[in-house]
Amino acid sequence: MLFKKCVYCEKYSYSSSGHGPWVCPYCEKDITWHKAKSPGEEEEKNKGNK
Ligand SMILES: [Zn+2]
Repeated sequence: MLFKKCVYCEKYSYSSSGHGPWVCPYCEKDITWHKAKSPGEEEEKNKGNK
């Protein structure tokens, strides 16, 4: 399960996979280019240690 936070309306949409076109169900904008995240990864943790 992956989710994206829409950059246009700031609502969350979910998909079972990150493949294919991803259109926000709320504002119907194309957010395919936006990076999908998985639950637990919601906060960006880019501290070098993974
Ligand atoms: Zn949206």
